[in-house]
Amino acid sequence: MKQVLSVLGATGSIGVSTLDVVARHPDRFEVFALSAHRQVAKLAEQCRRFRPRRAVVAGPDEAHALRALLADMPALDIAHGPQALVEIARAPEVTTVMAAIVGAAGLASSLAAAHAGKRILLANKEALVMAGDVFMQALRESGGVLLPVDSEHNAVFQSLPAGFVRGLRCSGVRKLILTASGGPFRALPLDRFAAVTPDQACAHPNWSMGRKISVDSATMMNKGLEVIEASWIFGVGAERIEVLIHPESTIHSMVQYEDGSVLAELGNPDMRTPIAHALAYPERVASGVADLDLAAIGRLSFEAADFARFPCLGLAYAALRAGGTAPAVLNAANEEAVAAFLEGRLRFDRIAAVVEASLERCPARPVHELGGVMEADAQGRAVARSLLQDMAGVLS
Ligand code: NDP
Ligand code: MG
Repeated sequence: MKQVLSVLGATGSIGVSTLDVVARHPDRFEVFALSAHRQVAKLAEQCRRFRPRRAVVAGPDEAHALRALLADMPALDIAHGPQALVEIARAPEVTTVMAAIVGAAGLASSLAAAHAGKRILLANKEALVMAGDVFMQALRESGGVLLPVDSEHNAVFQSLPAGFVRGLRCSGVRKLILTASGGPFRALPLDRFAAVTPDQACAHPNWSMGRKISVDSATMMNKGLEVIEASWIFGVGAERIEVLIHPESTIHSMVQYEDGSVLAELGNPDMRTPIAHALAYPERVASGVADLDLAAIGRLSFEAADFARFPCLGLAYAALRAGGTAPAVLNAANEEAVAAFLEGRLRFDRIAAVVEASLERCPARPVHELGGVMEADAQGRAVARSLLQDMAGVLS
C-alpha cells in the first residue's frame, strides 16, 4: 500500500531532501499536503511537481500569493496558519507525516500527528525537547510510530535490536554515543568567538542545513538538544548518553553494548539517507546518496567533547537532569538568543549566557500536559527577551 504523506516544512532543507527521495519512488509515496511559511514561490513549484491536495502557508497574504501563482490548479485547497498545519498533520487520508518545521513552531502539528496515531518521521527535535513526556504519552495512547530522522537518532535506531522498545537494559545496551562534528569552530581560538558572524556560524563543514540548526551546531546546542531528544526516543537517562567529537561526520552515532561490542551506522553526511530509511522502514530504498568511499576518506578521528569551549552542551545536560519544564525553557531561550544573533543583536559568544541566565530565572517545575509546556515556553522567551534587552548595549 502507498504511504500518503504530509510534509510539514516542505520548503526547508529537510523538506527539500524529503521530496527528493519521494520523487524517486512514485510507486511507494503519494503527497497529500505540503507546508511552507513564507517561501511561497518555492512551495508553488513543489505543488506543481507533486500535485498535493492541500497546501498550507503562514498567513492570508501568503495564501493569496500562492493562489495567484497556482490559478490553474483550482482543486488545490490552500489554507494558512497553525490550525491548518494541525489539520494536515491529522487528516484521516494521511498515513505518514514528515515533521520538518523548525523550532517550537513545529510542536502543535507534530503533536497532532502523534495524537492521531500517524507514522511520524521526526526531524523537528525541538518538539521532543519541549514536550517529550507529552509527545511519547500521545504516541503510546494512539499507537503512532516515531521514526527518527535526525541523523544521530536514526543511526542509533539502526544500531539497536528490534526489541529495544522493551527498554535498553533488557537489550544489553550500556550507552548511546552521539557523534558530533564539532561544527565550524571546533578549533577556533577562544578569543575569536566574540567576532563570529552569522554567515560564518552557518557555514557548517560537513552538512548543509537551515540557519537555526546551523547556529545550534556552531554552539553545540544542537548536540545538547539531541541528547534530550535521544533520552525521550530511547527512554534512557543523561548518564547513558555520551557525546563524542568526530569531525568527518562519517559515523552518525553508535550503541555500546554490555559485552563491549559497539555498533554504528556509517554513511556520507547527506540527510537523504536517514530520510529514506525512515520513509521506507522496515524496507530499504535508494536515496540518491553516493556510496561511501572509505578509502578516499582515509581516516576517521575522534576526540572528547570540550564542555568549556561549548557551554551550551553542559546547559542541555543540566536541563535534562533537572527535567520538568527545564528543557522547554532551554529551548525557548535558545531560540530567542539564536534569532537575536542572526539579526545582529547578540554576540555569538553570549548565546550560552542568555540560555544559562534564563534557566536560572525559571526554576524547573514538573510538567505533564501541553498547557504547562506552553507556559514554560512563554516564560523562557519572556525572560530571554528581557535579558537581551538588558544586554543590548553591552553585546553588539
Ligand atoms: P529550514 O529553516 O531549512 O526549514 C524550516 C521549514 O519550516 C521551512 O519549510 C519553513 O518555511 C518552515 N517554517 C519556518 N518557520 C515556520 C513557522 N513559524 N511556522 C510554520 N512553518 C515554518 O530548517 P531545516 O530543514 O534545517 O530544519 C527543520 C527541522 O529539522 C529543525 O527542527 C532541525 O533541527 C531539524 N533537523 C534538520 C537537519 C538538517 O540537516 N537541516 C538535520 C537534523 C534535524 P519557509 O521555507 O517558507 O520559511
Ligand atoms: Mg543531528
